[in-house]
Amino acid sequence: MSTFKTVAELVPFKEICHIYVQIILIQSGGAYRTSKHAYLIEFVCNTRVCVCDFLPRALTGFQPVAFRDILDGLVNTEYLVDVIDQIVGVSHFEIVSLNGKDTEKITLELQNQLSDRLTVHLLGKYAIFVHDATQNLIQKKCIICVIRFAKIGVFKGNLHQQRYIVMCTIAAIDYDMGWYYMSCKICWKRVLLVPSDHMKNYYCAKCNNYRSELLPRYNLQLVVLDNTGHSKFLLLDNLAEELLGIPCVALYGSSSDQIEDPVVVHSVLSKLVGGTYFCKIVIEEQNFMFNCQTFKVLEIIPTYEF
Ligand SMILES: [Zn+2]
Repeated sequence: MSTFKTVAELVPFKEICHIYVQIILIQSGGAYRTSKHAYLIEFVCNTRVCVCDFLPRALTGFQPVAFRDILDGLVNTEYLVDVIDQIVGVSHFEIVSLNGKDTEKITLELQNQLSDRLTVHLLGKYAIFVHDATQNLIQKKCIICVIRFAKIGVFKGNLHQQRYIVMCTIAAIDYDMGWYYMSCKICWKRVLLVPSDHMKNYYCAKCNNYRSELLPRYNLQLVVLDNTGHSKFLLLDNLAEELLGIPCVALYGSSSDQIEDPVVVHSVLSKLVGGTYFCKIVIEEQNFMFNCQTFKVLEIIPTYEF
């Protein structure tokens, strides 16, 4: 058996089998527990460790949980979990604010053999590592991702306003409710059409103005699919313009008197169909109150497909 070393003398990932002496045993608790054991071992400055010949495989402690159990809320969220499965989507690299600090973030979509999917957010060095790893891999190759000690996210906040990120493909555009709305150029609010003898009059309730300058803005109802089924998402002006690369007013025609050509409009808008994205959507009060099945998109994150 090798000689004892201090923890600081160890070479990470080279010396994997150790026994420990002079440790502190502390009671396990909190919302980030790594195991079901009641106590944790803590290293102190005089802890000495030594390479041992054999480490029983079971001691690695890797216990992947079933996606379905997480999705069905059967897993205790106080414990960190291990997950393993195939990466089927990776978001673009983002910088987000976490506790006031800029932090790297990517979002993964994992799929298991039963076609259950799990969305995983990686932050900091883990986001950089997986981003770099997936950049260098050839597409269409199966990539298996192993994550130890993942925290199961519980959606916090108001029951009547919940946000989710879902990976979905745009299957169609529903034109039943039109594809734009006429807004007040000043306040962006939808204007009301007021019947008049000779001409169309629009009233902005917010500005209390019957002669508001008008601006058409996108109001697209997308039929989206994921592996669980289909749904309807509402894509509003800025996000739609970002994806289409053309402002609504240009597609509508520079003059508000001009009658838009549905063939041209539909051919431009149909470019969205077939695209796969991570969509951050919000479930709002009206979705609960009026059983409205259309969900507003707050953000679109492009994906790499594998
Ligand atoms: Zn207004």
